Amino acid sequence: MALKNQYLIDLMETVKKRNQGEPEFIQAVTEVLETLEPVVDKRPDLVEAGVLERIVEPERQIMFRVPWVDDNGKVQVNRGFRVQFNSAIGPYKGGIRLHPSVYLGIIKFLGFEQVFKNSLTTLPMGGGKGGSDFDPKGKSDGEVMRFCQSFMTELSKHIGADCDVPAGDIGTGAREVGYMFGQYKRLRNEFTGVLTGKGLTYGGSLARTEATGYGLCYFTKEMLEANGKSFDGKNVVISGSGNVAIYATEKAQSYGAKVVALSDSNGYIYDAEGIKLDVVKEIKEVRRGRIKEYLDAVPTAEYHEGCKNIWTIPCDIALPCATQNEIDGESAAILVKNGCWCVSEGANMPSTPEAIETYLSNELLYGPAKAANAGGVATSGLEMSQNSERLSWTFEEVDAKLHGIMKSIFKACDEAAKEYGMEGNYMAGANIAGFLKVAEAMKAQGCV
Ligand code: NDP
Repeated sequence: MALKNQYLIDLMETVKKRNQGEPEFIQAVTEVLETLEPVVDKRPDLVEAGVLERIVEPERQIMFRVPWVDDNGKVQVNRGFRVQFNSAIGPYKGGIRLHPSVYLGIIKFLGFEQVFKNSLTTLPMGGGKGGSDFDPKGKSDGEVMRFCQSFMTELSKHIGADCDVPAGDIGTGAREVGYMFGQYKRLRNEFTGVLTGKGLTYGGSLARTEATGYGLCYFTKEMLEANGKSFDGKNVVISGSGNVAIYATEKAQSYGAKVVALSDSNGYIYDAEGIKLDVVKEIKEVRRGRIKEYLDAVPTAEYHEGCKNIWTIPCDIALPCATQNEIDGESAAILVKNGCWCVSEGANMPSTPEAIETYLSNELLYGPAKAANAGGVATSGLEMSQNSERLSWTFEEVDAKLHGIMKSIFKACDEAAKEYGMEGNYMAGANIAGFLKVAEAMKAQGCV
């Protein structure tokens, strides 16, 4: 899909000039602007208010040095980021990614996506994202703790329960959130809900761990049912084997699907009998091991080096849950050729523009990340509510609220797509519905 509206073409040119060397950010903005063409035609008041020019520019970007001492007594230096993208509808909210591939462009694309995703959740949360090029893999607990403390020493100057509330993402799980929370509390001498994804003994929410994976399946189930289909008896391929992939597998299996593959950044496993999730949990959640160790427990399964070929496994439904741009045009074409008819995204921006084009031109059911994986941040929003109330809800209460939110997100995407003449295009629906709420708030608040 290419932009046709001259105003949007000019805006995109400005974005490209201003953000050179940041292809992921430009990709994310392009995808959104392409689907906003009918909105621009219908809502000249939003153009007049300069909403689009403002929404593509972060309110604030913070970059800082993160020095820490490794187990050999040597000083290491990483780079820290926090991009506070948009606070029109609530405090900035978005996770912290710890991965060697992190640079400003990755954090900006994630922050931009987060603005629309958070809007879709129906909760009052603005968009932000943070991270560092630190790699927790292979580090001792002591090294991870010293890094997290140093990272938070600087970050604490810029966040707060009513200002900016970070959470987990790739490389940031319960351990890292715990170390960051402890340091924030020590520096500020206050116990507030400044981070979500906390442990259950100190303000965390039940069901937050499961939320993104479960939410992905709740959204996908709505999409399937609206199109006369279901998970039951279907073959499902899921990439990744981290937080999102594990709980997407659990929920898809509970709906009667057979999940046949999972991966990590080294390779993928294929188990024709269906993945044994207790084995995966033991490897990934207890031992922090590699996915190939699955074969030690299940020798009948196969392991293949390299993660891209996971998409050559024939399946009905693909749930990419690892990282950005993991499905390119070639992989998407193979998925379609092998009979895949649904792709729903647990990871952020896992499909390249060519892959998305392939889904749409072959009329696949396509659940875009900013809608389909919004369950994590929605439950983070519920964690914030519980922290403010100083109460804890039961697993069932939180899960029921999450389920309701994912249903309403699907409905919002479906209805916006219909209203703007793109029925069945849930990507367009998600972008439009997410955008309109933020845009109305920005217009109402004047030129800020
Ligand atoms: P984890 O760190 O728990 O797991 C990430 C998984 O993806 C691991 O299996 C990892 O393998 C794999 N992976 C990471 N980077 C790459 C890469 N470059 N190539 C291939 N595989 C890779 O992260 P999450 O499960 O939390 O996050 C997964 C995705 O979901 C991300 O896109 C994240 O932004 C998104 N997301 C997460 C939410 C959450 O609540 N956690 C909320 C919404 C979106 P390895 O161990 O080898 O690195």
